[in-house]
Amino acid sequence: MSNISENLNRIKATLQEGVALCAVSKYHPEEELQEAYDAGQRIFGESHVQELVRKEAALPKDIEWHFIGHLQTNKVKYIAPFVSLIHSADSVKLIREINKQGVKCGRRIPVLLQLHMAQEETKFGFTIDECREFLHGDEWKSMEGIEFRGIMTMATNCDDESQWRKEFAEAKAFFEELKQLTPSPFALEPLNPLKPLNPILSMGMSHDYPIAMEEGSTMVRVGTAIFGSRGY
Ligand SMILES: *Cc1c(COP(=O)(O)O)cnc(C)c1O
Repeated sequence: MSNISENLNRIKATLQEGVALCAVSKYHPEEELQEAYDAGQRIFGESHVQELVRKEAALPKDIEWHFIGHLQTNKVKYIAPFVSLIHSADSVKLIREINKQGVKCGRRIPVLLQLHMAQEETKFGFTIDECREFLHGDEWKSMEGIEFRGIMTMATNCDDESQWRKEFAEAKAFFEELKQLTPSPFALEPLNPLKPLNPILSMGMSHDYPIAMEEGSTMVRVGTAIFGSRGY
């Protein structure tokens, strides 16, 4: 017996008001996603293009598919027609390609700029300075295949809660700074007037999402705590 719906309900009960839950389903089979869907979950996060394309074809059409992993530029085209949010826009080169594919598909693809806050050298993403430079520049203003929706970050992979908190707080402060920019990169005209486009601050995973929420997260990405450990 699986506990997916129980896990989901338990986590949802701990979410602060206004915080969205992205259920990170990478490496888990379609049946487990279906189970979460049947329990009411509609936002799923995946980190591999092939796997996402396979699952999108197999599962209900009202799922919002989020891409959360490192995205290679040559693979953007496979997810461009349907992806609801790319959390991991981690370079200007990738942003240009997402824009190009969005234009080709006749849509604005929603993206978050991935910030590199963590101490690890290998993590992808913009530093705060690089991100600031991009959003203070003009290039994004003419990108008609992209809708900038906010920022995403991951805390350093360590046991030190105070370190996570410090990094989340830094990301939140930067997010507030970006919200003051004019013209705002995050306030394009809503494509769907029923869904107001609040800027998104995506931060928090299974082990640190309560801390991330305390520090101002508006979207948490939770995998293991819903689906159990991944068999890789
Ligand atoms: C895998 C992953 C998650 C979910 O991690 P869990 O620890 O399983 O909750 C969240 N964000 C990103 C970017 C991931 O790659």
